[in-house]
Amino acid sequence: MTIPFFDGHNDTLLRLLGVEGPDKDRAFIEGGVGGHIDLPKAKAAGMAGGFFAMFPPPLKGTLASVSGSSALDPNLPPELAQSDALTPTNGMASIMFRLKRAGALAVCRTAAEVRAATAAGTLAAIFHIEGAEAIDTDFRSLDVLYAAGLRSVGIVWSRANAFGTGVPFRHNVDPDIGPGLTDAGKELVRVSNRLGVMIDLSHLNAAGFRDVAAISDKPLVATHSNVHAISPHARNLVDWQLAAIRESGGIVGLNFATGFLRPDGKFVADTELDLMVRHVDALVEALGEDGVALGSDFDGAQVPTVIGDVTGVPKLLQALLDKGYGEALVRKIAMGNWLSMIERTIG
Ligand code: ZN
Repeated sequence: MTIPFFDGHNDTLLRLLGVEGPDKDRAFIEGGVGGHIDLPKAKAAGMAGGFFAMFPPPLKGTLASVSGSSALDPNLPPELAQSDALTPTNGMASIMFRLKRAGALAVCRTAAEVRAATAAGTLAAIFHIEGAEAIDTDFRSLDVLYAAGLRSVGIVWSRANAFGTGVPFRHNVDPDIGPGLTDAGKELVRVSNRLGVMIDLSHLNAAGFRDVAAISDKPLVATHSNVHAISPHARNLVDWQLAAIRESGGIVGLNFATGFLRPDGKFVADTELDLMVRHVDALVEALGEDGVALGSDFDGAQVPTVIGDVTGVPKLLQALLDKGYGEALVRKIAMGNWLSMIERTIG
């Protein structure tokens, strides 16, 4: 039995942007060049779709490694100018739309479009930006990006920008680090609510989280974050944040990054599947059965060896079944809860 699943976060477009030469599209369509997600692997795994992030990486020389390394800089990298964000964003969006033209995926703007793509056997992609650096504070580029299909915005990555401040990659600390949203950040939440663009809280600090919770009239969403009580990383969610998400009818996508799963915060590939199940248990306990989903961070982070890549997701779903989760609940965690959230935040 293959259970179809929808994933809250991947950095596959960033990986493809780094593929040398003109074969970026073929690297996805035919696979075989490594990485966590490509089309053959997605199909084999039962991946119905996911949020495809446009993540403008730090400029060369400002950060040793983006993720997946124990040598992560514990401090926030410098802010990125809009122009330095727009170029890679266009690059990643261009790959996504070329893949769409090639029939390799559908760029979906509503839950109904996700359902239609899934029914047609086409991989469903939601256009997401991770960190709003590509958006100016007059929201002109937001209009353009929205018209191109953008439906989900992470206000910040782990750095500060014109809208807010992210959490650093630090273990054994609370996410309550740094100031809340700027006035432009608060306006971004309102404008996104009006447009039907989902706001993603992953990477945002505690003060910014509080601001979004106070302003947004939509459920609170953290697409790829884990439970701070198990892995006390600044990227993970503390009890009051989980309670606020539950209160709003929101959702959390389980992040597969080993450093955000492990109690010791280390990025070690030899990390047990059981630990992922423990986070799911805690998320179900905190958020209820409608509030838990997947948010792998594939192609952006080191994941446990037992998962390996997207073809390992069925092992996690099987582990939940083996743990006594009913099939109906596993199907909700795998896909149903994301579909419901997309419907309620985007349309
Ligand atoms: Zn991320």
